[in-house]
Amino acid sequence: MSAHEENCVFCKIIAGDIPSTKVYEDENCVAFFDISQVTKGHTLLIPKTHEENIFELQEETAAALMKNAPKIARALKEQFGSVGMNLVNNNGEAASQTVFHYHLHFIPRYGDDEIYS
Ligand code: 5GP
Ligand code: ZN
Repeated sequence: MSAHEENCVFCKIIAGDIPSTKVYEDENCVAFFDISQVTKGHTLLIPKTHEENIFELQEETAAALMKNAPKIARALKEQFGSVGMNLVNNNGEAASQTVFHYHLHFIPRYGDDEIYS
């Protein structure tokens, strides 16, 4: 773990070097819209520390992230009128992780969307 990783796209988002649409931020984490919206409102919640994935994630970081998950889910539900929500987390290349800074996907579901699950 390190506070900031030079070539990490999410560390750049935290630093403000890459623009993003933030939906929540506090001292430990930030949530912003995924650039490729699997469904309307698709959001990523990330820690401000660079921790690669679940295998590296500190318990304190996990707690700080999950503390915010219910309010982010409720806010997205309210804003977009979704009727369900998938929370998805890919860890490791073999599990389809493409950005190696821990992140939790919030994927609002609408009943008539045609994505996985
Ligand atoms: P993974 O496949 O690692 O679970 O998910 C990485 C996610 O990061 C993808 O859904 C991808 O669209 C998103 N992503 C990659 N680069 C950027 C970026 O520069 N900005 C934003 N907002 N999302 C990004
Ligand atoms: Zn990072």
